[in-house]
Amino acid sequence: MSLSSGPVLIVGSLAYDSVRTPFGEATDVLGGAACYASVSASFFSPVRLVGVVGDDFSYDHVAQLAHRDIDLQGLQRAPGKTFRWAGYYEYDLNQAHTTATELNVFQHFRPDLPEAYRDTPYVFLANIDPALQLSVLDQVRRPKLVACDTMNFWIENARDKVLEVLARCDIALMNDAEARQLSGRSNLIAAARHVLNLGPGVVIIKKGEHGALMVSHNSYFAAPGYPLEEVRDPTGAGDSFAGGLIGHLARCRATDDQALRRAIICGTVMASFAVEDFSLRRLFRLTPEEIAERYHELITFTRFEGL
Ligand code: AMP
Repeated sequence: MSLSSGPVLIVGSLAYDSVRTPFGEATDVLGGAACYASVSASFFSPVRLVGVVGDDFSYDHVAQLAHRDIDLQGLQRAPGKTFRWAGYYEYDLNQAHTTATELNVFQHFRPDLPEAYRDTPYVFLANIDPALQLSVLDQVRRPKLVACDTMNFWIENARDKVLEVLARCDIALMNDAEARQLSGRSNLIAAARHVLNLGPGVVIIKKGEHGALMVSHNSYFAAPGYPLEEVRDPTGAGDSFAGGLIGHLARCRATDDQALRRAIICGTVMASFAVEDFSLRRLFRLTPEEIAERYHELITFTRFEGL
């Protein structure tokens, strides 16, 4: 990490997840959009985390996050249970089936940013109630870049607030199904154009193992998925992608087209590691050398000559 890396502020869910895939299952394991995104971003840039956990949240998990040098001043501990998500995947690992979403302590959470966080230049609004994402945006002063993510649950249950968030963001991230749901268009390029017209200058559509697309008013970029042969649990892929993306932009303090393309490859690499094991296990044992190796492999896999 370079000493001049810009810090990244991340707000979103911290969770205990119960997940079943065709390759195994895990109960009440550490998860949540903000956890995956923060740990992933921490390989590139200092991270300031905003969120809430319940009194059942293990101190070992707090220590694991702190060990990645994530600033936890903005993490509240409230009476009650930590947010819980339960779901399963069938052989199509791109499709998560939710069986339970328990908001628990998130129901009464009001983010209150520590003064030291309010000038953070890079902000990532990870998946959580869009009203909370808006409250964080109201508290930061002139960030250089705001990226946001959402999911079907909030598009269905809080569509107007999701639209308000999009209108205030520079980069919108979503998966293919969410882009279709939000825009009412089946073609992904048309869906991306629709989302661009809602406010963000850049739309990034994640297509699971098939990679990611970036669309802006004057540019287009497509990245393949990293060709992994063994995926155990796709949970957190999108959040790890987002963490790598915003972490890279903060590290190089740039938001131009070339920086965005590199950032998408960083995101692709981080997602590829996250899915190799359940929960954040693979991310917690990842090294910067492994990240660099996959980044270079992706350059080789996508380079071709002119005619
Ligand atoms: P991803 O697989 O990257 O889309 O995100 C998975 C993470 O999102 C899981 O660890 C869940 O805890 C978290 N999650 C699931 N549903 C929600 C929700 N409605 N709001 C916020 N986070 C959620």
